[in-house]
Amino acid sequence: MNYLKKFFKGLLEDMFVNRTNRLCVQLRLFCIAGAGISVIMTVLNIIKAEYRLGFETGISAAVCIVIYLYTKKTGRYLAGSLCMAFILLGMFTLYVAGGLVEGFAALWFCLYPFICFFILQMKPAILFSGIGLSVLIAFLWTPLHHILPPVYSQNFLLRFPFLYIGNFVFSLALNGFYVYTYGRLQQLNQQFEYLSNQDGLTQLSNRIYLEQYKQNLLEKGCTELHALMLDVDFFKQYNDTYGHMAGDEVLKSVAGVIRRLSAGFRSIAVRYGGEEFLVVLQEAGKEEATAFAEKLLQEIHDLKIPHVAGDGYVSVSIGISSRRVSSEEQFMNLLNDADKALYCAKQSGRNCLSGWQPAT
Ligand code: GH3
Ligand code: MG
Ligand code: MG
Repeated sequence: MNYLKKFFKGLLEDMFVNRTNRLCVQLRLFCIAGAGISVIMTVLNIIKAEYRLGFETGISAAVCIVIYLYTKKTGRYLAGSLCMAFILLGMFTLYVAGGLVEGFAALWFCLYPFICFFILQMKPAILFSGIGLSVLIAFLWTPLHHILPPVYSQNFLLRFPFLYIGNFVFSLALNGFYVYTYGRLQQLNQQFEYLSNQDGLTQLSNRIYLEQYKQNLLEKGCTELHALMLDVDFFKQYNDTYGHMAGDEVLKSVAGVIRRLSAGFRSIAVRYGGEEFLVVLQEAGKEEATAFAEKLLQEIHDLKIPHVAGDGYVSVSIGISSRRVSSEEQFMNLLNDADKALYCAKQSGRNCLSGWQPAT
């Protein structure tokens, strides 16, 4: 029971990865339901000595299982769903043409539009449901109906396609509603994710996103990283002199330079604390990282934001460290080293860059 709960929970969570995943999961859910119902029907048909129908429902159980395994193994959702749509059309047509169980088996045809909308995107679902309707009309409302066994009443022949059309319209409306709400939910989810990963003042990433970035990096294996820890010089004094609001504007301007320059690298730029920023560079050489840090120093100073302390303009100090990282501990050491280097830069008089080499 616990295994089943875990299995279905995993499947449903997969649905929210993207749109194609949703349909892929729905196809697999349909295969599971289809296989279950087909097995029950096969047993019932055998008990009732309906051997031909039993054979057909047995085949449909096998088809469901094969398509389920195929899509699970290859991830080829489209091939699986088109295959399912064709096979079901053929099978339901045989049910109508065969007139089995005094014509009752024909009723399965009515499920066809609903299934199409469940396993296909809107346009192919409309196409396949339309083909289904044409087949039904050809069998029931054209001279072709003479080949049907005499199990259907005139009333049945006249009304049956309307049952199908009703189901088609209902499935279309339900699907439209579902696609709209699913899309909107995805949109809101993305917005929420974006906002929760961003610092509200500077629009840089926040520490929640840094954590995620670290996990993604570590999953990929060992990488050479450079960490730059930046801290605005004499910022308390800036706030005390010009006010907190002006201080906020300085943080935004500094963040703007960081964002613009780090966009040229595979990197993450984070507001690490109050007036502290962190940039992690990937796939960059040591010289490149040092040149990047020097450019940051220069361009922030070149903003020429007047300040009573330092050399008359707002500046930052930067600590830089580099190392190969393959574990959480090494990542933390990388940041700690950058922090130590930042301390050295502050000790060396600020508005400068200082490096820190790992002991090992
Ligand atoms: P140092 O050169 O050694 O870095 O000195 P400092 O004054 O910059 O360092 P300190 O840690 O003493 O002060 C940091 C200040 O940053 C104190 C705090 O009020 C300010 N601060 C932190 N977050 C914000 C913020 O979001 N907006 C503003 N305006 N100020 C902030
Ligand atoms: Mg600080
Ligand atoms: Mg500071």
